[in-house]
Amino acid sequence: MQRKWHVATVVLVVLIPRLLCAAGMVDAVGAGLRSLDLKKGDPALCVLSNAVYVDHAALDMLEDRTGCSLGKGNLLFYHCPSGRPLKAALFRRDTRVACLLTQAGEGMIERVQLAIGPEQTSNPETWKEIGAKLGADTAMVGILNAWADGAPNDLLKCVEFHNHFCPGVTSGYLMAKYIQAHWPLTGRQAYLYIAAPVWCKEDAIQQLLDLTAGKHGIVTKPLAKDQLKDLPYTQPAGILIVREERNGPGTAHVLCFDWELANRGIKDMGGMKKNPLSWNDAPEKYISSPLSLGLTAEEIARLELVENPYQFLVSMEKKEQKK
Ligand SMILES: [Zn+2]
Repeated sequence: MQRKWHVATVVLVVLIPRLLCAAGMVDAVGAGLRSLDLKKGDPALCVLSNAVYVDHAALDMLEDRTGCSLGKGNLLFYHCPSGRPLKAALFRRDTRVACLLTQAGEGMIERVQLAIGPEQTSNPETWKEIGAKLGADTAMVGILNAWADGAPNDLLKCVEFHNHFCPGVTSGYLMAKYIQAHWPLTGRQAYLYIAAPVWCKEDAIQQLLDLTAGKHGIVTKPLAKDQLKDLPYTQPAGILIVREERNGPGTAHVLCFDWELANRGIKDMGGMKKNPLSWNDAPEKYISSPLSLGLTAEEIARLELVENPYQFLVSMEKKEQKK
């Protein structure tokens, strides 16, 4: 049965090349639904678009024509600079076939239709074909498969901001869950998060904890491998400071993320190759906090400015022990 489906999807990839249709997006959405053999409101349907960033007026049309909505969790967006062409991918959960529509000019819509499920992404040949057909839009593959696999809505919001789905953003999702479970804010408390070294996780942490750079909630510090090697921590990922109030004193917690504990044998997680993490994993499986240290407001200000914040904490800890 699976084999039959695979053959059918390969044929589909071959038979439906990149088409340029002289029709508006409204007609193209209707034709796309018919090509997926879906009707408006079908629970197998999902729409992924950049409309919210490039063509706000198209949102109502997409909702109206497909029946997908934010509330139902099947109208998804991805972050995109303004000025880019409008894109909308219609996606069918059971067949994992996507129909990508791109505004290619006044009344012209480019259409690409292909199967993008785990069967295709785990096969180097079909994965190559997907990359050739989707080009810069290949990032949609991971997002749509994550939706099909039941990714929670708050993770999909992180993925929207990050604009692709990857193990890095999943690691940030798990770190944010760990922070919320271990150090929930009370009263006037506020978080300050120092990302060091920096990877995709920071976008999930910013999104879930409202720690934006502009509001001074996150400080990013790229660190080279040799800056990490003499530390008493294994795979440090960041430092969370729980402040008693904004700009006040607080407690710094070192957070480590142990990638060695990830299951690298799973091939079809979120439709991605080699994604070793699942949003369903317990954050404690990977994350630990080997140090918690009380700091004054002045010490926190210095911690933000030093080149290597872990070395700073090690020296502060030694000072503390000498007292
Ligand atoms: Zn990423």
